[in-house]
Amino acid sequence: MRWRGPADGRRHRRLAPAVVLALALLPLAALLGACSGAGGGSPSAAPGAGVSVVTTSSVFADLVRQVGGSRVDVVSLVPRGVDPHTFEPKPSDAARLAGARLIVMNGLGLDDWLAKTIESSGSTAPVVRLGENVPGVDYIAGGGAVEPNPHLWLDVSYAMKYVDRIADALAAADPAGATAYRDGAAAYRSRLGDLDRWVRDEIATIPPADRKLVMYHDAFPYFTRAYGLTAVGTIVNAAGQEPSAGELAALIDAVKASGAKAVFSEAQFPPNLVQRLADETGARVVSDLYDDALGDPPLDTYEAIIRHDVEQLVTALRPAGSS
Ligand SMILES: [Zn+2]
Repeated sequence: MRWRGPADGRRHRRLAPAVVLALALLPLAALLGACSGAGGGSPSAAPGAGVSVVTTSSVFADLVRQVGGSRVDVVSLVPRGVDPHTFEPKPSDAARLAGARLIVMNGLGLDDWLAKTIESSGSTAPVVRLGENVPGVDYIAGGGAVEPNPHLWLDVSYAMKYVDRIADALAAADPAGATAYRDGAAAYRSRLGDLDRWVRDEIATIPPADRKLVMYHDAFPYFTRAYGLTAVGTIVNAAGQEPSAGELAALIDAVKASGAKAVFSEAQFPPNLVQRLADETGARVVSDLYDDALGDPPLDTYEAIIRHDVEQLVTALRPAGSS
């Protein structure tokens, strides 16, 4: 309604009526164009069509999209393939937050940079912290500056709890869509239940003595606990912080002593340290796991990255020739 302000009114009075009409309709046309382009829904659909949701990680953006379907218009501030721990928001991110009806983050230290950006954006949209104070979650100590470890979603049964929280938040932001969100969440939870069982079955094909791994950063403690693997160590203590020579030497000793067959890193991190660890220990390198961020298609959904990671783990840890 800004175009009907007093300043515009004064300007309009000096213009021919046809021009005034054109000027008055222009913002409306632009608005309608933007609505129809957003979620594919028509602007005359339910008032909640194209609910604007901004998330930190691309992983959470996918969870919101799976629950909200065409009712939501989701963007993640952290691009695919970028580490959310060390992400530095740009001024354009504040503009995105200013237009959001719902803001979704993990919390627990993963994406705390968001608080400042929300403040500078002036947004008053509700903020959902998916990972904090979740009933039924047994939190694991972070072992560093971040407490507890924030990577709950890599245990698929915990990702299902994120889905519930997202469905509740969407229903609160857009009550007209409450049934659609409940149904979307139920269908997605069912698929995630299948995924959880599939992960269990796949990991079970690795001989128990070989279910050991070394990770680049400490993203997998909920995953390893849920699916019966053991993390021998991590290369970096905190995101963006490389190990000292002494820490790396200790990790090399630990990997050798454990007999871990593979060292895993993620697509968003440089491979040099992982390669060095592998060279020193004889362990195999797998450097394209996904955890904190999605990848390019077809690895652009949560379900796809979990399947991809498990396939990589099983291939690296299962003895050749077994199945
Ligand atoms: Zn992480």
